[in-house]
Amino acid sequence: MTQLVGLFGYPLSHSISPAFQQAALDHCAIQARYHGWATPPEQFAAEIERLRGDEYLGANVTIPHKEAVARLVDEVDEVGRRLRAVNTIVKDGASLVGCNTDEYGFMRSLREKGGFDPDGRSAVLLGAGGAARAAACGLVAAGIERLTIANRTLERASALAAEVRRPGCDVVAASMDERGLTAACAAADLIVNATSVGMRYGPAEGRSPLPAGAVPEGALVYDMVYTPAETPLLLDAARAGARSVGGLSMLVFQGAASFRMWTGVEAPVDVMFRAAEEAMAGLGLGPGQTRE
Ligand code: NAP
Repeated sequence: MTQLVGLFGYPLSHSISPAFQQAALDHCAIQARYHGWATPPEQFAAEIERLRGDEYLGANVTIPHKEAVARLVDEVDEVGRRLRAVNTIVKDGASLVGCNTDEYGFMRSLREKGGFDPDGRSAVLLGAGGAARAAACGLVAAGIERLTIANRTLERASALAAEVRRPGCDVVAASMDERGLTAACAAADLIVNATSVGMRYGPAEGRSPLPAGAVPEGALVYDMVYTPAETPLLLDAARAGARSVGGLSMLVFQGAASFRMWTGVEAPVDVMFRAAEEAMAGLGLGPGQTRE
């Protein structure tokens, strides 16, 4: 039997997960088809129930369902509970277990693509939503010494800072005030954008979350936004001579963790990266395709 696995989200245009997950399934000769399941909120509960059937291998979940799904599965694992979001559904017979692979994907790409070890370092994290929570938890667990969480809505930054603060780790909240941000960035080893600013087709398309000139040469700049591949923040980083990592690697590594959970097989990440880059190029979102 060819099993089914897929991504629930709404809307789902421009998702490249089907391309790289299918490439991995085919490479490993696993009989399964990965689909994009564009599912409006009112149909989501019924679609999740369907997953209990033998023909389904599991699922990924993205916006706007990442929080609602916790109420629809039978269990949420420790990481999903901590991050208060589920992006992967794994099956145990007909039971559905909610998991989250974003923290793993972020930390693996930070280490493997950025060559960055957070232990004893300082970071500025822009954003206080679900992706920022995954990054903050990962950075604190990995021994970051000072973390500034800056967000448009300051109260959300303060709440996240209070949630992740640990002894020996100085976590402070900040507004997106230009002068404060520039000063915090000047002292940072790592700057992470976990806002949607700069995302193609989003309301802040074409913008950087940081004021011009705020990127210091010595920092590693990490943009979770992956459409386009060269975001305004990454272009600023290149101009400043700073090293950078784009969000595509996080997407692929979080998908690789989902793949291993569904199949029990180590994901062929090189195959996934090649397929993801081809899919980005096909959508006109790849490197060199970002300037209008
Ligand atoms: P979310 O929970 O909706 O959070 C959105 C964040 O962006 C909030 O901090 C929000 O600030 C901020 N924001 C939105 N519009 C803004 C604007 N115009 N100016 C300043 N800040 C703004 O979303 P999320 O799930 O955390 O995702 C955030 C980004 O990360 C998205 O672009 C998503 O695609 C990306 N992401 C990438 C990966 C990957 O694998 N590469 C994985 C997960 C997420 P407020 O709190 O003030 O609203």
